Amino acid sequence: MHDIKIKPEEIAFDIDGVVADTMSSFLKVARDDFGISHLRKEQITTYWLEECLPIDEEIIKAIIERILTDPFGVELKPIAGAVDVLRQLNLHAPLRFVTARPVKRPIEEWLQAILKTGDHGFQVIATGRHEIKVEILKELGIRYFVEDHLETCQAIHDEGLNSIVFDQPWNQGSTPFLRVKNWRELQGLLDV
Ligand SMILES: [Mg+2]
Repeated sequence: MHDIKIKPEEIAFDIDGVVADTMSSFLKVARDDFGISHLRKEQITTYWLEECLPIDEEIIKAIIERILTDPFGVELKPIAGAVDVLRQLNLHAPLRFVTARPVKRPIEEWLQAILKTGDHGFQVIATGRHEIKVEILKELGIRYFVEDHLETCQAIHDEGLNSIVFDQPWNQGSTPFLRVKNWRELQGLLDV
């Protein structure tokens, strides 16, 4: 389908919704801590949860805060296939993650635990804001970024870099970007 072959040093990754199955943790905390058991991942049709979920905004904030600070406590899991592909890439280059999370340490520890990275290691940059991801990517010399947030994909595309949308219920619709349905498809784009 695509002729491109992305070199390991040319690509970086968003974390939540791409490497981490953050929405499943969200649903789990909603159920376990707040007794909200009627939510389904398919209901999350926009990136902004308060717009698509019928629950109180304060509860959404509280759940997100737990996910940001305690990935192990909320039993954050990797998305299927992510660990294998990332470890394969890591044989060739350091892994680079650029997240809009405001704090780095908890998610960095989580990545270390799931990836058990070897020689080339990994780097996490927590920007705190979506809008500055593209600047960071340019500084790092990244050409391809895997992301689930469409507005960020657009901003990256507008600056001449290549966005790859990681398919999720909240990023549907026609876009000019490459789109992958899962990590196996993403693997097919990599020159490893
Ligand atoms: Mg994300």
